[in-house]
Amino acid sequence: MLLSLCSASPPSIPSNSRHCLQSVKTLAESISGNRPASLLAAPIESLRRGDWVKLICGASFEDMADVRNLSLVYTLAGVDCIDCAADASVVNAVNDGIDAALEIASVRRPWVMISVNDDRNDLHFRKAEFDPEDCPPDCSRPCEMVCPANAILLKRMSEGDEIQDGSHARGKLQGGVITERCYGCGRCLPVCPFDRIRAITYIRDLATTSALLKRNDVDAIEIHTRGRTTELFKELWTGLSSSIGHLKLVAVSLPDNGESTVATMHMIYSIMKTDLECYNLWQLDGRPMSGDIGRGATKEAVTFAARISSMQDRPHGFYQLAGGTNAHTIDSLRKVGLFRAKNDPADSNALIGGIAYGGYARKIIGRVLRRIPSKHGHAHIEDYPELMLDAIKEAFNLVGPVKC
Ligand code: SF4
Ligand code: SF4
Repeated sequence: MLLSLCSASPPSIPSNSRHCLQSVKTLAESISGNRPASLLAAPIESLRRGDWVKLICGASFEDMADVRNLSLVYTLAGVDCIDCAADASVVNAVNDGIDAALEIASVRRPWVMISVNDDRNDLHFRKAEFDPEDCPPDCSRPCEMVCPANAILLKRMSEGDEIQDGSHARGKLQGGVITERCYGCGRCLPVCPFDRIRAITYIRDLATTSALLKRNDVDAIEIHTRGRTTELFKELWTGLSSSIGHLKLVAVSLPDNGESTVATMHMIYSIMKTDLECYNLWQLDGRPMSGDIGRGATKEAVTFAARISSMQDRPHGFYQLAGGTNAHTIDSLRKVGLFRAKNDPADSNALIGGIAYGGYARKIIGRVLRRIPSKHGHAHIEDYPELMLDAIKEAFNLVGPVKC
């Protein structure tokens, strides 16, 4: 079965590819101590130990091929949870990637989490949009260059090209935002010199979310709230409460709203408490939608965690970092004593149960995924073992320091 994932005709797999497949398997199984998947601890144990890692595919990111491949790579890298858009096709793509990873190596199945919002103005739930016909032909297209998701694709039409109404096309721009790839980071908005780009906000549909929560391949939900008022949260929670019965985890993601943050968390917890039959987690979103890779990007998330940690009256639940998290986050957390070093009892009370990686995690693997030749819209990374090995190494560099 393993070989059939990597080639339609197993004997034709070059020896180097076989070597890469074996290396992927060895790497993936090493992080779990080479124990059979059935003996591996459930993701909740990672939260208890403080080495939980969540991959954020993106609440608005709906490129199925990338979502599937990211899920495959990070399952092999040992993440505990994969957080994705609350959309049936996206959930299918995540589970497809996980299933493919489990065929490759004996690793544990991560939890699948869907992300929803209680507020139309949440930055995670928006898409950029513009009509390229409104763009001046001589625009240098800074929008295209700044987009971290390669979600803007423009082509300057040449002599002989015709647009729909048969009018003269030379010099005009064609293309625009690839909606499924846009995750709403907003970077393109301020760079357009002609103010042509709009942000379209949306709210996830309650009925769709309720149906997804009843699937047995969805384990968790994350509710994004801006935390300014709890009325919208209460409305959403009331609508969802009859669908959360089999969930393993309910997460609430909120930004740092200063002094009022903990009071808001208490109010949210009191809204959820009666219906909550599973674990709960607070996602401390230090720098929402930052997508930055520098050391500075992680500072706000760590500062947020340090402030919450210093408060005695924190609401019940696990705590996890997000927003601006990257390769520097673990070091920063260690410096302020919030990350539990292995075998160090002094750290046993450290607040943070784990880290969620979003834009940075997608970016380091995206560089590898862009090297996959796309065939008829399907691009399975396991068909390219050398690339899969490169991707797994990148993913391990991020996940490994938390886990090992
Ligand atoms: S909002 Fe972000 S992801 Fe979407 S098109 Fe603009 S730069 Fe790209
Ligand atoms: S920067 Fe603005 S005007 Fe230029 S191509 Fe992009 S959307 Fe069009």
